[in-house]
Amino acid sequence: MLFKTHLIFSLFVGLVLLNFFEINYLFLIFILVGSLLPDIDSVESYLGRKARIISGPIEFLFGHRGLLHTIYPVLSLFILYLIFRINLILALAIGYLLHLILDAITKEGVTFFTIPFRFKIKGFIKTGGIFEKILFYVLIIASLFLIYSLYF
Ligand SMILES: [Zn+2]
Repeated sequence: MLFKTHLIFSLFVGLVLLNFFEINYLFLIFILVGSLLPDIDSVESYLGRKARIISGPIEFLFGHRGLLHTIYPVLSLFILYLIFRINLILALAIGYLLHLILDAITKEGVTFFTIPFRFKIKGFIKTGGIFEKILFYVLIIASLFLIYSLYF
């Protein structure tokens, strides 16, 4: 999925959380940041292009949609949250997980687990294709609706 689709999807889920839970705007922003993190494993991604010095070695070591596109970084963040009780780490974990969920509906799919067993989910959506465009605009409309219902 494209950078902008990840952002709008995590914004939408963040707005839903804002509606139902007592989260603040910083928590929402950290969800957005978390949703961009996994693609640091590709020099072609939006974030990867901006930080080649990090994305280059990571892509070389793990490959795109490798270790960084598994559930393990999410679990690591969640464990850090449990240890330090910093809510913003939980926000990063949520954003990170949202990225994986969205990537899982693409043709390339996501290998959530590698150890002890391989568990891969994939869908039919082509990254940058027509269905992603439709999803992008549906999420914009849904987000605008949520913003409207929150403030008006
Ligand atoms: Zn990704």
